[in-house]
Amino acid sequence: MTAEIIDTNDLKKDPVFGQLSFHGHEQIVFCNDEDTGLKAIIGIHNTVLGPALGGTRMWQYQSEWHALNDVLRLSRGMTYKAAITGLNLGGGKAVIIGDAKTQKNDALMRRFGEFVHSLSGKYYTAEDMGMETRDMDVIREVTPYVTGISEAKGGAGNPSPITAYGVFMGMKAAAKYKFGTEKLAGKKILIQGVGHVGETLLKHVTEEGAQVIINDINETRLEELSKKYNANVVLGNDIYGLDIDIYAPCAMGAILNDVTLQQLQAKVIAGAANNQLADEVKHGKILKERGIAYAPDFLINAGGIINVYAELEGYGKDEIKTKTENIYHTTLEIFNQSEKENCTTYRAAYNIAQARIDARKKEQ
Ligand code: NAD
Repeated sequence: MTAEIIDTNDLKKDPVFGQLSFHGHEQIVFCNDEDTGLKAIIGIHNTVLGPALGGTRMWQYQSEWHALNDVLRLSRGMTYKAAITGLNLGGGKAVIIGDAKTQKNDALMRRFGEFVHSLSGKYYTAEDMGMETRDMDVIREVTPYVTGISEAKGGAGNPSPITAYGVFMGMKAAAKYKFGTEKLAGKKILIQGVGHVGETLLKHVTEEGAQVIINDINETRLEELSKKYNANVVLGNDIYGLDIDIYAPCAMGAILNDVTLQQLQAKVIAGAANNQLADEVKHGKILKERGIAYAPDFLINAGGIINVYAELEGYGKDEIKTKTENIYHTTLEIFNQSEKENCTTYRAAYNIAQARIDARKKEQ
């Protein structure tokens, strides 16, 4: 899934605690069930602000190490996402190893739910890639520690439209910073990955008059959406050198790396994918040096977590919308902070999130 590097020498020495990304994690749970074929990993990064909350991703990973690395990076990202958004939640995430199209079934989901339940509320799950709202309903049959269940069952429903709305807000803020206007009319935008989030983002930017190019590995979906939204399609991986204003990564992580950054022509990056920077320090710095306005992913894709948090806190749609719209202001603040402190936008966002966690820790 992710393209980041695992130092295999370190792993041989210390296969668990030596995992570089492991640092800072509180707990990792490996879930194995022979009857259903479930192989899952739950990563709990930090619970200072509250219970760890984060979606479950089902993906056919190249290896178990790739799955572990993904869950560690994702759960850590959730800690900072919740912190910068002002939510009283910690960071967690789960991955299920397997093909969601052929291996996912209700028995597997229930068994996974039982593992979540065994953590007694330290970790709340939700939807991520390869999951649907219906799967959360099945998990709900065996545990209350799940969010993103259907509205019919009293939940907040699919978080993706809200996530897309937050990304749209972050993109507008980045455009305001870089181009002097938040208006996206006439801007050339590339959306990579037109799944649950990407499609709604496509709808928002199209309605505002942007010229959109879409890219996905699912060609049937590209054909359908290009007709529906009158968008241009580019197939394959050769997309980074395209003459575009804004790049919106809405598929996989680690997409801003040594290879892609050499080719990238975009002036703004604002997308939904988690952990876009393969190396947060190195690639964040390259973006800053090249004057590319990068809206940190964990900040602008927080709409989904705001939506599921509503289920726990019992607030309604208006408040969800207001909190999500606030992503616009926070993103602008991050750009200003990054300029003032001469640091990357990732660092500026991280510092604010970490300060909130540190302050809470002192109180405890
Ligand atoms: P999704 O599975 O619905 O969509 C992902 C899309 O990306 C699919 O259409 C898939 O075919 C495409 N894709 C996969 N690999 C690709 C590749 N190499 N090149 C181009 N396209 C590719 O997932 P989603 O829910 O829309 O989430 C998208 C991203 O946003 C993920 O990284 C996810 O972790 C992140 N995210 C989602 C939410 C949410 O609310 N759904 C919240 C926060 C972050």
